[in-house]
Amino acid sequence: GAVDTPAVEDEKPPPPAGANAMNVILVAAECAPWCKTGGLGDVAGSLPKALARRGHRVMVVVPRYAEYAETQETGVRKRYKVAGQDMEVTYFQAYIDGVDFVFIESPIFRHLQSNIYGGNRQDILKRMVLFCKAAVEVPWHVPCGGVCYGDGNLVFIANDWHTALLPVYLKAYYRDNGLMSFTRSVLIIHNIAHQGRGPVEDFYNVDLPEHYLDLFRLYDPVGGEHFNIFAAGLKTADRIVTVSHGYAWEVKTSEGGWGLHNIINESDWKLRGIVNGIDTKDWSPQYDVHLKSDGYTNYSLETLQTGKAQCKAALQKELGLPVREDVPLIGFIGRLDHQKGVDLIAEAMPWMMDQDVQLVMLGTGRPDLEEMLRHFESQHRDKVRGWVGFSVKTAHRITAGADILLMPSRFEPCGLNQLYAMSYGTIPVVHAVGGLRDTVQPFNPFEESGLGWTFDSADASKLIHALGNCLLTFREYKNSWEGLQRRGMMQDLSWDNAAQKYEEVLLAAKYQW
Ligand code: ADP
Repeated sequence: GAVDTPAVEDEKPPPPAGANAMNVILVAAECAPWCKTGGLGDVAGSLPKALARRGHRVMVVVPRYAEYAETQETGVRKRYKVAGQDMEVTYFQAYIDGVDFVFIESPIFRHLQSNIYGGNRQDILKRMVLFCKAAVEVPWHVPCGGVCYGDGNLVFIANDWHTALLPVYLKAYYRDNGLMSFTRSVLIIHNIAHQGRGPVEDFYNVDLPEHYLDLFRLYDPVGGEHFNIFAAGLKTADRIVTVSHGYAWEVKTSEGGWGLHNIINESDWKLRGIVNGIDTKDWSPQYDVHLKSDGYTNYSLETLQTGKAQCKAALQKELGLPVREDVPLIGFIGRLDHQKGVDLIAEAMPWMMDQDVQLVMLGTGRPDLEEMLRHFESQHRDKVRGWVGFSVKTAHRITAGADILLMPSRFEPCGLNQLYAMSYGTIPVVHAVGGLRDTVQPFNPFEESGLGWTFDSADASKLIHALGNCLLTFREYKNSWEGLQRRGMMQDLSWDNAAQKYEEVLLAAKYQW
């Protein structure tokens, strides 16, 4: 339930993991603040710190896509075979907030900083094979604080299809040979729509014994028989986590599982949904570094009314919109693709533009949708800003300055922006799916309860209906509005909650409960 102290992680005593302390290695294709394209990067940057605060020894392994200032070369070099080719990797390292960060350097990761998943299928596959091969050996080769982790009490956390090979390598290279017998693996599903699919022949590029082929071989009516990396990872991992309860349910359905629902249903016993936390150091209106200049200001529950109004004015000024306190300012932040329901906003545009509102959209993605944002802006210069680009600073400022955050996602494994919004007193209007359904309880005017507005199908008329009620409340029912804001801000959305649940999963994997 809600806790009434604003979350400042440093002030909480770390609950000692004591006898249950584990060595945990999280392996991911991206990790904030070094490299991030979405929620996965945020999770890889924050969950490990929260696990370390609970007393575990925690490492993150990530590719080194560019020169990262805080990192040091370890001098450790290793060679791995990838698609018949010998490749050398070098390991870099940093120790930050109680976590060992290890970066794997290779020419094939270089120059990808702003395009992590760029290149053709074969290129991406090669990168992930090299990365997973090198990552699974980090506990042997890379001393952290002078000592290698080794395999005692060790659990790997892999993330999405990019690192789904890791549980398979752990088994094939080690456990099948009587090594790392007590090492376990957990695979987190952040987004099941991407699976590392390819022709069956791809199997010969992942360097595994022939009898592993069946783990990867999948048949579905759309793709026919194919090679599927996520499938193999899900079957092999000791535990599976999805980033919300709602999503744990959805991935078991034929619509939400994207062809993997049968495998997940068979693995139901090892599946759990855990809603992501937010990094309350980066994302709190009280400490947000992006609110310290250009007329913005930090604020808290106590200074909500004046502080948020000042941020709204600063945002309107910065974007060249009329500076007006009474006009509801609606924000959207996210990847521009079908998943995020940007087209529903487009459909609702004529209605929205008939209202006295301002709309600010920030995103990158599909070129046609980027063009659409620019078009909206040029058509409605006094009301709309369509900012095409990836700007963390602007994301923070919209979150603080907007009154309302729109998230009409078609599916949403967890969704972070609605969590950020609520902790900034910005009211979410969301399609009730996955993590959005779990985290945004609908406003109930009779009980003065709930956190925002939801609509139950990906349909522009439903969006309009929900947003219409939201706008009405903003204009006519100031007390209800402030109640929504305060309830949102008072939630404990920190990672400490989620980390405790992850710890239970790690222990279950370790002891095979
Ligand atoms: P997903 O992982 O599906 O993209 P999430 O809501 O889980 O969606 O996470 C998205 C993260 O990426 C959030 O931290 C959000 O603020 C950030 N983000 C998305 N698009 C942009 C952008 N154009 N500029 C800055 N940050 C962005």
